[in-house]
Amino acid sequence: MKIKLYNSLSKQIEEFNPVNQDEVGLYSCGPTVYNFAHIGNMRAFLFADLLQRILRTVGGYNVKWVMNITDIDDKTIRDSQINSPAWLAEMGEQTNSEIENLKKLTEFYQDAFLDDISSLGINIEHFYALPAATDYIDEMQDLIRKIMKNGYAYIAGNSVYFDVEKWRHNDKYGKLFKIDFDNFKKGARIDSDEYEREHISDFVLWKEKKENEPFWDFEIDGKNLQGRPGWHIECSTMEYELLGLPFDIHTGGVDLKFPHHEDEIAQSKAGYDCEPTNYWLHNDFLEVEGEKMSKSAGNFYTLRDLTQKGIEPLDIRFTMLSAHYRTKLNFTFAGLDSQKKARRRVQEFIWSLLDDKTSGDIIVDSDKFRNDVLSQLANDLHTPKALAEIFSFINSNEPDKFTEDTKTKLLNIFREINNIFDVFSFEAKPEEINQIPQDIINLADERWQAKKSKDYAKSDELRKKILELGWEITDAKEDYKIIKL
Ligand code: AMP
Ligand code: ZN
Repeated sequence: MKIKLYNSLSKQIEEFNPVNQDEVGLYSCGPTVYNFAHIGNMRAFLFADLLQRILRTVGGYNVKWVMNITDIDDKTIRDSQINSPAWLAEMGEQTNSEIENLKKLTEFYQDAFLDDISSLGINIEHFYALPAATDYIDEMQDLIRKIMKNGYAYIAGNSVYFDVEKWRHNDKYGKLFKIDFDNFKKGARIDSDEYEREHISDFVLWKEKKENEPFWDFEIDGKNLQGRPGWHIECSTMEYELLGLPFDIHTGGVDLKFPHHEDEIAQSKAGYDCEPTNYWLHNDFLEVEGEKMSKSAGNFYTLRDLTQKGIEPLDIRFTMLSAHYRTKLNFTFAGLDSQKKARRRVQEFIWSLLDDKTSGDIIVDSDKFRNDVLSQLANDLHTPKALAEIFSFINSNEPDKFTEDTKTKLLNIFREINNIFDVFSFEAKPEEINQIPQDIINLADERWQAKKSKDYAKSDELRKKILELGWEITDAKEDYKIIKL
């Protein structure tokens, strides 16, 4: 099926055509591993996962999916410094080596990130590469030398900057984001990785070493500039090295349009003489009461915060997928609960299709149902409309009245849909769960989550409560059973 995508470059929905016929090169801006990611960040990664699954399942493409790990930037350096409050006991003692401390911090949070996205149904095997920025320092230096050679970078102090004024007379600066150059001060420079568009200025490619910061040697223009790369050059380099330019699709949250993605475009064109990508796709924010969920606003939940409250990661995945990626999604516990029920409703329908004891003589047009759902997904990943098709079908049909053949066909279609959503089970409905009251199931689930997150006090307390209500929990390695006393 043909896929259509909203391209932030053209600001319209376009038919997707990859550079190579059957293969898609996809680059997603990944996490900065200085702390546990919050579920707002997770929305960006779940959106990229949705995209790559639709490209594979509906579009029939092979997808080379690259997601970078930012393990060197302002925030990772800040939080790896001696006596940083972000340092956890599990990471061990800090050492006197800045590089060692940075490595310990970022490896710890990278592992946590991979655990979190796996719990949220992202299959690590779907990645072609998860490159860490610190493994590409030489290549970043090469790109900076190229930009310098082409005349669009200069050295000031011991740092290297991109010459925006010169560049904007050569190519458009402001392709993704309208930029007002009225306030632009020629030659003004900015060193931080993130900045507002009012502060548009020459941005840093290579930052001079500061005291107590990790650094690398950099030979350029006959000088050795000890320092470290700016954030934007990391992505420009890794996408070129791993996918080649131009690759097909680049994703990230809308906040990355400026300066990160705008600067990526300028760097790639100024250094490699090529646009980085053909389609830029951006997800909108997960919000809390009308404000972007973010560490700085303090209004965030990590996945751990939520599983400790007994929330299942797959309910979070389903909730994120229930909204279109280009709309804002307001995070509430009531919203999570209603999506939990919606997911269960589809699951019950699948369990009824799996039940081979009952069947009837109703035949439905399963091809039409399949097409109705998949065509919505192909249309700029419209998950809410695809789910509306699914619920309309479920609400107007009784699975035990279908013929065996219809049930089999529908099961195959639900399996295909689940290659994208990946939140449903195709195992027969567990018998024991059938007779257990919902409040006991909820408590047992909460206890399991507490145990998994090593909150043993809470897990013991819940086990006691369940016992008092007349049920016992027995644990296996990956699961548990609820038994009536
Ligand atoms: P970071 O680790 O800060 O570089 O962010 C990783 C990804 O999360 C980026 O693509 C951001 O645009 C995205 N992001 C950050 N906050 C939110 C949010 N509240 N909702 C959706 N995406 C977000
Ligand atoms: Zn990036």
